[in-house]
Amino acid sequence: MEVLVPRHSGFCPGVRQAEKSLLSTHDRETETPLRVYGYLINNKQYISMLSSKGILTVADWKEINKGSIAVIRTHGIRREEEKKIRQSHRVLDLTCRNVKKVQLKIKEHSDKGFYILITGKKTHPEVEGLVSYAEQSFVIETENDLAEFEKKYLMDGSLHQPIFIVSQTTGNRALFETVCKRIEGRVTAQPVVFDSICPVTELKEKEAMELQDLADVSFVIGDKLSSNAAKLYQILKARREEVHFIEDLQDLLNLNLPLINYKIALVVSSASTPFSIEETVCRYLKDIR
Ligand code: SF4
Repeated sequence: MEVLVPRHSGFCPGVRQAEKSLLSTHDRETETPLRVYGYLINNKQYISMLSSKGILTVADWKEINKGSIAVIRTHGIRREEEKKIRQSHRVLDLTCRNVKKVQLKIKEHSDKGFYILITGKKTHPEVEGLVSYAEQSFVIETENDLAEFEKKYLMDGSLHQPIFIVSQTTGNRALFETVCKRIEGRVTAQPVVFDSICPVTELKEKEAMELQDLADVSFVIGDKLSSNAAKLYQILKARREEVHFIEDLQDLLNLNLPLINYKIALVVSSASTPFSIEETVCRYLKDIR
């Protein structure tokens, strides 16, 4: 089978940089344990690989012993937690610079008295971190949330502050644009909009859609925890029926698909999928003839 892979498939620059810093620190600091607070990236197999190297992931930063280096994941963490960790630990901050930029923009506008509107998944670690940089904020995950915000704050004109709008970096552009358009028409002061959607993610989605048109089946590889993998899957699935969301080769085998009937497959991995998983899937598909 012929296999098409978008150029931007797999780890994004933020994850690549985080991996490089983490592993080089691990090689250098042989005597100091490294403890990652929360998943470095949303991929369970990758977290196990780190653990096999002695880089353990903890759910609560208070579990990190004083002598260890506390690692902050690519999605960032809540501001008050970061402050506390920095008071008691050496820190390796792997927050992606795009995420850091959004955190600081939110803080800057919040300090100036803006009300912060964030589009994205409420329970995603990045969004939880972003919220912590705002004095007052509202997260819009769905059109229902937008309606709720309008009802609560805009219908009776009870919101007197200017509004600052941002998105989760891997957020949905259609939702972000809908929110911007709807809010602009409802408030007297023009809202300030910061387009914080990661360009790499959008580029990968665009390439994947172009290649999907040449393929007769598509595979999105990613952990079910990964929101950018889920988004990639939804985008491709909305265009064609033959799209499958898999975590690895075993998942693909479990689907029991009549692979021999396909001539061209698109394989695209999320920003948090290790290359080795994609390589194994591609090799398997290429051998089918
Ligand atoms: S997807 Fe973009 S914003 Fe998110 S970690 Fe990667 S480079 Fe950074």
